[in-house]
Amino acid sequence: MNSQSSGQPRSGATARPSRRPRNVPGVVAAAARVAGRAIQRPLPEFMTRDERSVSAWVGIGSNLDDPERQVRRAFVALAELPDTELRVQSPLYRTAPMGPPDQPDYINAVAELDTGLEADALLAQLQAIEKRAGRLRETRWGPRVLDLDLLTYGRECISRPGLKVPHPGIAERNFVLLPLLSVAPDLEIPGLGPVRQLAAGIDREGVVRLE
Ligand code: AMP
Repeated sequence: MNSQSSGQPRSGATARPSRRPRNVPGVVAAAARVAGRAIQRPLPEFMTRDERSVSAWVGIGSNLDDPERQVRRAFVALAELPDTELRVQSPLYRTAPMGPPDQPDYINAVAELDTGLEADALLAQLQAIEKRAGRLRETRWGPRVLDLDLLTYGRECISRPGLKVPHPGIAERNFVLLPLLSVAPDLEIPGLGPVRQLAAGIDREGVVRLE
């Protein structure tokens, strides 16, 4: 549970308070999985989690400045986002770089958020985390301290300047699909199909699970 979850969003983020009331005492427990452990969390009796918020999956990558540490810090930063809970974090994977080969291997992972933020506000928050980690907007597919991609946002398909969801690279990227497969094989990627099916034909070369 993040420290902001019962208060107002910070940093001017857009929330959807009407869909996500806070501090409502409840008796129904919902299981959330973080790092493979179940966490019992109260939900209001009259409301399902689906009615209150959206499941959003985020892809995490780093290949500079102690990448494992960067990815672990990214999980913490995601857990602290306003009006958002970190539901699932995948194992870490070491992966060969996509794009210019003369760069270090990446560490990749995925995370599921349960969020009341709108998609644009969530992407802005992800970019703010990247920036705080020291990311500069550099060469396309070049090395980076931290890359956060909004992979899915509920069942929505969004295509507008600055935001495409599902993220266009999902179906070809083993460094996204294999972490997803480890924690959410049945996740339906809107317009593409279930992760299990997308991952079935993917090239696994250069991808090593670390934990
Ligand atoms: P990248 O270099 O991979 O971090 O790409 C960042 C750019 O992609 C930014 O200009 C974003 O606005 C844009 N973008 C579009 N859709 C997405 C998405 N689903 N997740 C992350 N960035 C996105």
